[in-house]
Amino acid sequence: MKRLLLLGGGHSHVEVIRRLGLQPPRDTRIVLASPDRYTPYSGMLPGFVAGHYDFHGCHIDLERLCKTAGVEFRECHAVGIDPAANRVDCSDGSALDFDVLSINIGSTPAAHDVPGALDHAIRVKPVSTFINTWNSILEAGKHDGAPLRIAVVGGGAGGMELALAMHFRMLAGNRTAAIHLFTDTPTILPSHSSGVRRIFERVLEKRGIAVHPRSKIIKIERGVLFPESGEPFHAEHIVWATAASAPGWIAASGIQTDERGFVAVNDALQSLSHPRIFAAGDIAGMVNHPRPKSGVYAVRQGPPLAENLQRALSGKPLIAYTPQKIALALISTGDKYAVAVYGVIVLEGKWVWRWKDYIDRRFVAAYRADAR
Ligand SMILES: Cc1cc2nc3c(=O)[nH]c(=O)nc-3n(C[C@H](O)[C@H](O)[C@H](O)COP(=O)(O)OP(=O)(O)OC[C@H]3O[C@@H](n4cnc5c(N)ncnc54)[C@H](O)[C@@H]3O)c2cc1C
Repeated sequence: MKRLLLLGGGHSHVEVIRRLGLQPPRDTRIVLASPDRYTPYSGMLPGFVAGHYDFHGCHIDLERLCKTAGVEFRECHAVGIDPAANRVDCSDGSALDFDVLSINIGSTPAAHDVPGALDHAIRVKPVSTFINTWNSILEAGKHDGAPLRIAVVGGGAGGMELALAMHFRMLAGNRTAAIHLFTDTPTILPSHSSGVRRIFERVLEKRGIAVHPRSKIIKIERGVLFPESGEPFHAEHIVWATAASAPGWIAASGIQTDERGFVAVNDALQSLSHPRIFAAGDIAGMVNHPRPKSGVYAVRQGPPLAENLQRALSGKPLIAYTPQKIALALISTGDKYAVAVYGVIVLEGKWVWRWKDYIDRRFVAAYRADAR
């Protein structure tokens, strides 16, 4: 009996599980290892923060999905891989063996190089921790009602969407909140066109969200951010939504990584150094096709990953996969309004939000055990 270990219930693995359930590989025990039973669909996280979705509306129940697909669900927060021994080590001291391993554990905002960030800022990932903290901020606000100052660090689409969503939720709850967005770049959304930036600059200004460009945060203390230049800034809550980073234990395990510490994979999503190991989503760095860390690519990698895991188990040649060059980005403004960006095409409106809402709900619904 062969052992296929799926590490992390990310956007690629939910599709892998669905497909393996429909076409189970012969003589194979499949295990999904995940720290949480519920995995979030991150495109809906800003909508959750804004109050448009409840917890179950934007999460997939991995345990149920596994049960339907004949996959064993194991609670495990991986802290290391021993590729020579074909073993994954979990934080509770247990270990999981594999013949073929697939990694889809996502990423976390880079915070290790900023003193105090891990202790005094709320990282947006792991999402489960962020959601608990956000719920407690909202709960505390019900009782004291005092005005809040929230600083969001990270001027990319994720940080900005969160800032707008928080602002919307605070207003909806009749709370006064001053939201400040910090970015080390000269503008918000540095990887988007000036047209997209202008739309969001307009929205942020209208909402009274203060943007602090060229403000690299170099240290955090409890309730205080220290920009490289300028005065320390005080805030009751500091949300950390900077660029994606990989956990250090991936590189420490001896698996070849790209220059940012993500698993270096070929066009078959297979590790360059360890052919029995595959990776997809944010944690994978496709060496021939570098792409931004975005859920769209993780979702698209699901089907070719499923195919190649089947092939690896049966010793067949792997298929090559090329990710699309441009992907549709649907960025919300917190108030059921969104902007669609596809290459040079930029559209905005309430209808764009309804479109995004439809796509996002459909994705999550596809992995509800009762949907099939
Ligand atoms: C606020 C915000 C909004 C975003 N909005 C969008 C959007 O609208 N569209 C878009 O395309 N992208 C969006 N992104 C980017 C998107 O979140 C990521 O690109 C996407 O989630 C990556 O998917 P994944 O499958 O690689 O991993 P994830 O979806 O992050 O899933 C990883 C899974 O692995 C598990 N895991 C983590 N560590 C371990 C471990 N050590 N051991 C075992 N399991 C582990 C986690 O619990 C989780 O279930 C957004 C990001 C943020 C922060």
